[in-house]
Amino acid sequence: MTPLVQRAPGLSREDAARIARELYGVRADAEPLPSERDQNFRLGEYVLKIANGGEPFEILDMQTKALQLLAAAETDLTWPRTVGKIEQAGGHYVRLLTWVNGVCLADIHPHDPELLASLGRALAQTDNALQSFSHPAAHRTFYWDLAQAPLARRHLPLLPAGRRGLVEPHFDAWERVPWGSLPASIIYGDANDYNVLVTGGRVTALLDLGDMVHTATVCDLAIALAYAMLSKADPIAAAAHVVAAYHRVRPLNAAELDALFPLAAARLAMSVCYAVWQHSQAPQNTYLNISNAPAWQLLEKLAEMPAGWPSEVFHHVCEPEADLLGARRRTIGPSLSLSYDRPLHITRGWKQFLYDSTGRGYLDCVNNVAHVGHCHPAVTSAAAAQMALLNTNTRYLHRKLTDYAERLTATLPNPLRVVYLVCSGSEANELALRLARAHTGRQGVIVVDTAYHGNTNALVEISPYKFNGPGGRGRPPHVQVVPMPDVYRGVRYAGTVAEAAAAGNAGAFLCESALGCGGQIILPPGYLRDAFAAVRQAGGVCIADEVQTGFGRAGSHFWMFETQDAVPDIVTMGKPIGNGHPMGAVVTTREIAASFNNGMEYFNTFGGNPVSCAVGLAVLDVIREEGLQENARIAGEYLMAGLRDMAGHDPLIGDVRGQGLFIGVELVRDRETREPAASEASALVNRMKDRGILLSTDGTHHNVIKIKPPIVFSRSDADLLVREWSKG
Ligand code: PMP
Repeated sequence: MTPLVQRAPGLSREDAARIARELYGVRADAEPLPSERDQNFRLGEYVLKIANGGEPFEILDMQTKALQLLAAAETDLTWPRTVGKIEQAGGHYVRLLTWVNGVCLADIHPHDPELLASLGRALAQTDNALQSFSHPAAHRTFYWDLAQAPLARRHLPLLPAGRRGLVEPHFDAWERVPWGSLPASIIYGDANDYNVLVTGGRVTALLDLGDMVHTATVCDLAIALAYAMLSKADPIAAAAHVVAAYHRVRPLNAAELDALFPLAAARLAMSVCYAVWQHSQAPQNTYLNISNAPAWQLLEKLAEMPAGWPSEVFHHVCEPEADLLGARRRTIGPSLSLSYDRPLHITRGWKQFLYDSTGRGYLDCVNNVAHVGHCHPAVTSAAAAQMALLNTNTRYLHRKLTDYAERLTATLPNPLRVVYLVCSGSEANELALRLARAHTGRQGVIVVDTAYHGNTNALVEISPYKFNGPGGRGRPPHVQVVPMPDVYRGVRYAGTVAEAAAAGNAGAFLCESALGCGGQIILPPGYLRDAFAAVRQAGGVCIADEVQTGFGRAGSHFWMFETQDAVPDIVTMGKPIGNGHPMGAVVTTREIAASFNNGMEYFNTFGGNPVSCAVGLAVLDVIREEGLQENARIAGEYLMAGLRDMAGHDPLIGDVRGQGLFIGVELVRDRETREPAASEASALVNRMKDRGILLSTDGTHHNVIKIKPPIVFSRSDADLLVREWSKG
């Protein structure tokens, strides 16, 4: 390939002004404009283009004819007009075009959906217009043609070794593009954001036809996408706006939709390869480096994306929406609600973000299950590797089972040393009840008002949240309910448990270590310590439900009960334990385990299987290796400080409380009467969803905003949450 950048013309402003005067009769000062391999000068209402020494006349002729065709076609765009003829000066072809007004897309921030859509429309109109265009010069081997990606790939070795891995997979994916199924035509081929002009918030011109080539038509869009994705928080969502609008003007077939993302990524790969190569050839040309840093940032983001997801998004925004809601109503049990007024269709999770079917990202402040971040690679690879090796039940010896039990108990105080592995929080609490009943011989249970402990028969019977809620059948006789120790609403505390224990014949006191469904309530200091003492005194055992609160979320401690100066007899675990893999655990004392070992076997087909153990181990590793417990402490304190600040000027906020990244914000209509603001809470949650932040409500009065994100949640996430919330 000819190193065209080396043959870029090097005329001075004075030369340019003289050429314009002598050849075209234009008198004006010449201002240089950026260019990769040509030289362009602005002279008032004109642009003088000095072609690269290696550019054949036919290419320039093709551009002139294309401009004439495009100017006559029905597009929303203004095209430069050619003035006079192609001339020669100093061994270069020169042309004069009219100046087109507008602001470079690169200089507009942010790129809102309407602007991106107008780019899609502009390209589709251009591609439609060029369908009827032919020119022999278009059938060339051109180094920027996406069909020629291997020409760029040759420069891969020039990249630092550590970066090649970000690029090479895109060249590999390019190899699988079915070129034979893609309609071909002459394309414009260079919608980078320095060539796209914007007026009044929409794209009004495309400049520089120097990259025109006959190739797969979809390459025109793919090239635009490579640039449209740069510097975007949600690159796929940005691209999807362009694609959807393009598709409405020039419908894309299925093969084109499939090829679009691999081609856009290949364009990026080509760009960084040519950049490194061109830089090695012409280090003085700064234009060559214009979009390099954003390109690398984007390549890093793309490397985190599951293969196929961008194409899935592009298909989704172009093809008629399948009636998911209808299908759900027809096929899924109806006693299950959807979050938000307008439900979300989520197709990807990554770290503390969820992405919907249009590629839009949401900061996830509610999914405490994805504890170490959605789809953490250490967890997914541990699961996949073990799944491919062995998955069976626990009636065989298995190293990972005992390793996991040892690692789990090492996080707990004595005498909590015996582990039962199950498949959910409900199974854990169900088993905990059986252990307590076997140990004490008593059926009765003391629970805290508004608590939820699980979905089984026995647990619905002891969950006031359910038996007192819609469809509930009230409190069964074997259950004693003590009031919530709600500091904000000033109820009595551990004494109520002592009274219940003394009055009844309860075998167990079951309590969350901080109250989730009750409204993110942090127990008063020593509540569990005192309550446990009273219950034991009366012959009961104490169960801490750590399903919501465990595994470092508390920040200062690994287990929330540790903040209470208390040690339970049984701990139940779920949700975060497997980062989304269905797991649960019960850990108890040797004495209680011995009482339960009465001859009746406890077998759980899936509990403790090798895949679950591998996942559980990976979760523990990640918490430790990434310092996530400490992160929960720092980010949680930072967020609470921000929320309390906000409370200073938002009278709706009655209380901000929390421990680590387990946080509640109670909304009230009046700070004196503390009248719960339930509808306001629900409206806020829906508004915040529209702004890209996921929250939920809970509490007896449904007026508490729950914040319990994956514990990779950062201080900048906290800033974003507070900033968006402050908008009202
Ligand atoms: N305990 C608590 C405190 C919970 O919040 C939940 C679930 N919300 C459960 C137990 C039951 O867990 P699972 O849904 O995994 O059965």
